[in-house]
Amino acid sequence: LLFQNTRFTTSAPDIRHMPADEGIEIAFAGRSNAGKSSALNALTRQKRLAKTSSTPGRTQLINVFNVTDEVRLIDLPGYGFAKVPIAVRNKWQRALGEYLQKRQCLKGLVVLMDIRHPLKDLDQQMVGWAVDSGLQVLVTLTKADKLSQSERSKMLKKVREACLFYGDQVEVIAFSALRKFGLEQLESTVNRWCVE
Ligand code: GDP
Repeated sequence: LLFQNTRFTTSAPDIRHMPADEGIEIAFAGRSNAGKSSALNALTRQKRLAKTSSTPGRTQLINVFNVTDEVRLIDLPGYGFAKVPIAVRNKWQRALGEYLQKRQCLKGLVVLMDIRHPLKDLDQQMVGWAVDSGLQVLVTLTKADKLSQSERSKMLKKVREACLFYGDQVEVIAFSALRKFGLEQLESTVNRWCVE
C-alpha cells in the first residue's frame, strides 16, 4: 500500500453515518493527546492530513481517509477527555464497542498510548473489545523520543508482558512521530492486516 496517496474522504458524526461496510478498514484509537494525529500524518507522510489537536477532546467526529478505493484508515475520536460530559462519553463508548464488534470490513485496530502512561483503563477496555471481536491489535507506544533508550526498552518489555494476557492478536511497538522510529513497523503491520 502507498500510504502517501491517502486522502481525506469524510467526517461522520457517528457509526451509522460511516461509508458502506465494504472493503477494508483499519481504525486508530487513543486517549486525547496520545499522538494519534501525529502518527497518522507520519504514516501517510503528510503534514496536516489528521488535525493535531490544540483543543484536546473537541473533535468527536470519525474521520475517514481513503488509501485506495478499497482501503480506509479510520481516525476515531480521542477518548478519556475529562471535560466531555459523562453521558456523552458513555454513549460514545457504547457506539465504539458496537463499531468494533459489528464492522465486517474492520481488520485491525491501532491503539495509541503515550509511552509514559500506557494501558490506562479505557486503553485496556479498547484492546479488550478489539480482541474479543477477533481483531488484530497494534499497541503503539507514542512519543518514545521522550524516554531514554533504556527506559524505552523497559517500558516496551513491561507493556508486552501485560499484553500477553490478550494472546497473540496483540503486538506492541515503540513509536515516535517526531524521530520516525517504529514507523516501518506500523506501516508493515497495517499492510499485513490489509492483505490477510
Ligand atoms: P492526538 O490528540 O492523539 O491526535 O495527538 P496529537 O498528534 O495532536 O499530539 C498531541 C501532542 O503530542 C502534540 O503536542 C504533539 O506535538 C505531541 N506529539 C505527538 N507525537 C509526538 C512524538 O512522537 N514525540 C513528541 N515528543 N511529541 C509528540
